[in-house]
Amino acid sequence: MAQTFDVVVIGGGPGGYIAAIRAAQLGLKTACVDEWRGAEGKPALGGTCTNVGCIPSKALLQSSENFEQAGHGFAEHGVRVKGLELDLAQMLARKDKVVKSSNDGIAYLFRKNKIAFFHGRGSFVKSEAGGYEIAVEGVQSEILTAKNVIVATGSSPRSLPGAAFDEKLILSNTGALEIPEVPKRLGVVGAGVIGLEMGSVWRRLGSEVTILEALPAFLGAADEQIAKEAWKLFAKQGLKIELGVKITGVKAKKDVTVEYANAEGKAQNATFDRLIVSIGRVPNTQGLNAEAVGLALDERGFVAVDEDCRSNLPNVWAVGDVVRGPMLAHKAEEEGAAVAERIAGKKPHVDFNTVPWVIYTTPEIAWVGKTEQELKAEGLGYRSGTFPFSANARARALGDTQGLVKFLADAKTDTVLGVHIIGPFASELIAEGVVAMEFRASSEDIGMICHAHPSLSEAVKDAALAVDKRALNI
Ligand SMILES: Cc1cc2nc3c(=O)[nH]c(=O)nc-3n(C[C@H](O)[C@H](O)[C@H](O)COP(=O)(O)OP(=O)(O)OC[C@H]3O[C@@H](n4cnc5c(N)ncnc54)[C@H](O)[C@@H]3O)c2cc1C
Repeated sequence: MAQTFDVVVIGGGPGGYIAAIRAAQLGLKTACVDEWRGAEGKPALGGTCTNVGCIPSKALLQSSENFEQAGHGFAEHGVRVKGLELDLAQMLARKDKVVKSSNDGIAYLFRKNKIAFFHGRGSFVKSEAGGYEIAVEGVQSEILTAKNVIVATGSSPRSLPGAAFDEKLILSNTGALEIPEVPKRLGVVGAGVIGLEMGSVWRRLGSEVTILEALPAFLGAADEQIAKEAWKLFAKQGLKIELGVKITGVKAKKDVTVEYANAEGKAQNATFDRLIVSIGRVPNTQGLNAEAVGLALDERGFVAVDEDCRSNLPNVWAVGDVVRGPMLAHKAEEEGAAVAERIAGKKPHVDFNTVPWVIYTTPEIAWVGKTEQELKAEGLGYRSGTFPFSANARARALGDTQGLVKFLADAKTDTVLGVHIIGPFASELIAEGVVAMEFRASSEDIGMICHAHPSLSEAVKDAALAVDKRALNI
């Protein structure tokens, strides 16, 4: 007999598991169906983010940064390292352990909140009076009925035409996180967040990295001043990035040869030991049997939803990578929690203008709100203030003085419109920009708040003060 729930969530990534936990906290009888298989085919909750995305990439970014610091950074601090060796197997094993502890943490939260978990593929069977029937196909088959369904099935990597992922020579994010030996020549197609982060990991571990990007501009979504600074610093590190290329062929045998036209249209080719392809992701809607209930998809295959994540069907919602908007775990989480609250009759609000972006390279890049080029294009009057980390005492003590903080504020009201950071711990510092924007703070408000000394956050305060040409430390 079918098991009946108030809410069935399909997908156990950050969108789905947060939705399930919030729904259960609000007293709704909740189930979550997720098909991810970890080691030995066992369930591994957390989706792309936990298994082959945010978490393992950050684990490897930290380990590889430690290796680079030990090899090149410590000496300046008077710490000499002799006989430095890379134990890649241990590095990868540690990453797997970090992933496993996150999987286990989510499973624990499911048990604690009495969420029924089903391991397998969830798909719509039919709509019926007051709800939907969902089939689960896994080790055991189940039929569930639900008043409300939340689709949180995420996304999968897009491959290059004619060059399917084999995860040996042509790697998606999955293969890029488990290369068993450091490739001498590593190619990366796509200079987005994933390409830059993965390229950085393997460069730090010794690969010669070439990144090929189709777009003519580097980091087009970032503020131009920050993107220029990033370009300069990445080039200094030895990341070779070619813009405006058009890939014309990929041949994989013992190694991988990429044929492409460069920005001038000249035919080129480059041979690599491995190739990471990070050219975007496609929504996971194939397995849902959306047609059975008439769930509408948009022209790009995403589940079509409104601002509140409502689909075209009553009580069917969708969140995270499977819907419009940035493919970011925290955006998925915000949507997941908000949908659970809407189902419970609350009125939450997700402000998409204050979703922060982070690239965990060295230096880190993070921003929230409008870029300077967006403000110009929209004809909005603004004032800007910048502050370099080289003038920040904590950055000097850390030995990490690259980069800057930039504030953009409304010319008339001084309301903060955007905060852009490239530098140490930008991922952490950006939270102050998010708070400022959520509370409609002015740059003066941030400049008048007491910040600890010496701290990197003083650079944020100084950039805010610089809007009014009042930076104190320069
Ligand atoms: C290498 C990499 C690094 C990243 N780093 C960051 C980062 O630092 N910060 C950040 O914010 N974002 C990062 N992201 C993006 C982030 O991982 C995604 O935005 C996030 O995982 C989306 O969450 P989701 O819940 O929508 O989907 P997912 O995490 O993709 O989860 C969807 C889940 O649904 C399951 N599923 C799919 N179809 C079905 C079905 N029919 N039945 C049952 N289960 C199903 C999938 O197996 C999966 O477990 C990164 C991504 C990659 C690839």
